[in-house]
Amino acid sequence: MTEKADIKSMHLTELTAFVTQAGEKPFRAKQLYQWMHQKLSETIDGMTNLSTGFRETLKQETTYTVLRPVNVQVSRQDGTRKYLFSLDDGNVIESVLMHYKFGNSVCVSSQAGCRMGCKFCASAGEDFARNLSAAEMLEQVYGIMRDTGERISHVVVMGIGEPLDNYDNLLRFIRLLTDENGLHISQRNLTVSTCGLVPQMYRLADEKLSITLALSLHAATQEKREALMPVAGAYDLRETVDACRYYFEQTGRRITFEYALVAGENDSMADAFSLASLIFGMNCHVNLIPVNPVRGSRFAQPDLETARAFQNKLEKNGIHVTIRREMGRDIDAACGQLRKRYMEEQGKGRWIP
Ligand code: SAH
Repeated sequence: MTEKADIKSMHLTELTAFVTQAGEKPFRAKQLYQWMHQKLSETIDGMTNLSTGFRETLKQETTYTVLRPVNVQVSRQDGTRKYLFSLDDGNVIESVLMHYKFGNSVCVSSQAGCRMGCKFCASAGEDFARNLSAAEMLEQVYGIMRDTGERISHVVVMGIGEPLDNYDNLLRFIRLLTDENGLHISQRNLTVSTCGLVPQMYRLADEKLSITLALSLHAATQEKREALMPVAGAYDLRETVDACRYYFEQTGRRITFEYALVAGENDSMADAFSLASLIFGMNCHVNLIPVNPVRGSRFAQPDLETARAFQNKLEKNGIHVTIRREMGRDIDAACGQLRKRYMEEQGKGRWIP
């Protein structure tokens, strides 16, 4: 059996070729595209300006990806909404909606599971299942919009998975999400976070997009980074920071460095000094994230005083830095935790939200 066409992952040009091959006029492709990416139609039957015959063909010959929430947790503290979506093959993924002064932001997963194995992360040690298709990434945003009726202005690819380990689908997702015939979210409002897959960082820089690249740094010496992140063993710290410099040169977009503060591991004044030296003079922003304690892990957050002192040390060296406000603390919004709990409970034959 040949694989069914994944129409929601197609660019308009590809969809046009597909539609004409099916014997329809080319303008039908644009109508179909708008049903999928602007009106966010949940069914093919709902696409009322397409003929019933064509709708039947689509139903039989294509995959029409729609994500529906299995579970939604709402934070009583700040209204953050955490979604568990099920995929057609039974896998589950997480996405989060956060409300900020500048707009609503959705945090999207790029893979079902992750292969990177960062020591402090809830998704490490979980089974890696597979890459998500572009449609499955888009549908996390669309599904949340259908559920809340709220406009989404910002998207961050910081959920489960390593986006640059799913490069081609990620690129499709970016182009579809920012396309003027779709939701037309500004590329400037899109952030992709990577643990530092250097060759793909160069490739992304050469695409000359205006998205923000965030690098999960988490340590400022090779030795400390290797202790936290296995990927650091494959790509040297200097080489990784050089790739960030190249990204800025090619795109003019300031790099964000994410740095999870872990008590006693990377939060000393000496660590702050190493970090300041490593990125001194770069056009960048540092996001300090008090590490989110993951069940069964030994990592703990430093106290606020230590975090502030770390921040001050960087600021004194002329570095832009913020301490990330934690959203949805009460609903384990640290990515991966809901999926992890689901998998554990499902393994025991039960799932209690
Ligand atoms: N794989 C990508 C994107 C997903 S993780 C990456 O590594 O960047 C999104 C961010 O959350 C990364 O910066 C990651 O290091 C961080 N993160 C993971 N677990 C965390 C935890 N327990 N506490 C704080 N940040 C965490």
